[in-house]
Amino acid sequence: ARGDIHAEVVVLGSGPGGYTAAFRAADLGKKVVLIERYPTLGGVCLNVGCIPSKALLHVAKVISEAEEMGHHGLRFSPPEVDLDALRGWKNSVVTQLTGGLSGLAKGRKVQVVTGFGTFAGPNMIAVDNDGATSTVSFDQCIIAAGSEPVTLPFIPHDDPRVIDSTGALELDGVPARLLVLGGGIIGLEMACVYDALGSSVTVVELMDQIIPGADKDIVKPLHKRIEARYEKILLKTKVTAVSADEDGLTVTFEDDKGGTTTDRFDKILVSVGRRPNGKMLNAGAAGVAVDDRGFIAVDSQQRTNVPHIFAIGDVVGQPMLAHKAVHEGKVAAEVAAGQNRHFDARVIPSVAYTDPEVAWVGVTEAQAKASGLKVGKGVFPWAASGRSLSIGRSEGITKLIFDETDQRVIGAAIVGPNAGDLIAEVALAIEMGADAVDLGHTIHPHPTLSETVNFAAEMFEGTITDLI
Ligand code: FAD
Repeated sequence: ARGDIHAEVVVLGSGPGGYTAAFRAADLGKKVVLIERYPTLGGVCLNVGCIPSKALLHVAKVISEAEEMGHHGLRFSPPEVDLDALRGWKNSVVTQLTGGLSGLAKGRKVQVVTGFGTFAGPNMIAVDNDGATSTVSFDQCIIAAGSEPVTLPFIPHDDPRVIDSTGALELDGVPARLLVLGGGIIGLEMACVYDALGSSVTVVELMDQIIPGADKDIVKPLHKRIEARYEKILLKTKVTAVSADEDGLTVTFEDDKGGTTTDRFDKILVSVGRRPNGKMLNAGAAGVAVDDRGFIAVDSQQRTNVPHIFAIGDVVGQPMLAHKAVHEGKVAAEVAAGQNRHFDARVIPSVAYTDPEVAWVGVTEAQAKASGLKVGKGVFPWAASGRSLSIGRSEGITKLIFDETDQRVIGAAIVGPNAGDLIAEVALAIEMGADAVDLGHTIHPHPTLSETVNFAAEMFEGTITDLI
């Protein structure tokens, strides 16, 4: 059956995965329809994720650098924060990018259909736009429905003082006392923003370190720095109850020995992870299997169990990161257009854009140990980097993990300002099969933080001669 509109390729969801897939399929000559429930394109990443958070983190960086230069003889008055203007600027960055995407869609004749799409059959999607329904029939489909924040049953999420990352990015006031529930990347980035804007921040994390998943030694410099700036960082602690009254939110904490305490906050940011949107698509009508958690399994060509239906991005699994979604989107579009492509990335870098930034790629030291791999490491402390000291920072570390059998680099972790940019070099090195000599003999510009990658390789080789 034909729908109101027919697409050779329909893409469900317009985040980084979805728009990349739609544009690539159109470039390869397909008639593409892109379905998005919200009025702007770009998904979580552009509207309420990567981009607005980085705009606010830039603000935080300017504030904290100005504060810290006070210790080195450059003193500014305390900043005057005009929240309305800041919010306006952050929104304008988002609007510029989402508007740009609309233009790119038009330029490629990708038809954007606004509304909530659900499967009505193996070749049909029904779109509901505020009660007005239409249908899109398709030859092939790419599901790019993304994810949403996890909520907790014992927290009054309907109270406006309980916010998720989207609420935090709205910048609707600066609470005097903020509790960040969850010490992962998203929570810590927002903690960094609100600390700089003047909130007194407490972070609570269930595990024994912040950013669980990254190596402990790499997270330590971040922990130390924020511990000094924030009110408290509670590890191995869970929140068991939250009650709301006019004066604030009373939170009960339980530590790993079962001891409980309570404290009062003006706002709580719940950042305990994201869950995939697979369950809301009526995917069963198309025969697409969705697991209990809402993930959709795919093969290396991004095909679901139904061969003409693909899935990409957060909805197919971890890591839930925009750059992964983009690469999967390209693969799905190219396979849909008849090319023989596979998602075969060796590594996907992760970055916390906190201050300092924490970035890692490939095998972590903890994983290497747990899996019994024979590895060696090269570690370079930034206290010996001329450039690091000349930006007033000395806490950074660059660590490279090598396979002892062939000296190839198989992992890296970096903490320090701009670690997120620096990790890209090691991602390329791993993809290219580079070894310690390749990294050690490549001439890096002096004085840059990128030299720390060069020096860490030389530390492993034992060929380093000077540490400036
Ligand atoms: P999404 O971006 O989630 O987009 C899915 C889209 O599909 C949404 O627009 C949704 O409205 C739409 N949709 C879903 N179901 C339907 C339906 N049934 N009908 C119509 N439309 C539908 N990642 C990074 O790599 N770097 C970062 O710095 C970073 N920072 C982040 C900061 C925050 C605060 C958050 C929340 C996330 C951040 N992420 C970051 C993660 C990143 O945003 C996601 O990994 C990325 O957006 C996933 O892309 P996606 O295409 O899979 O889906």
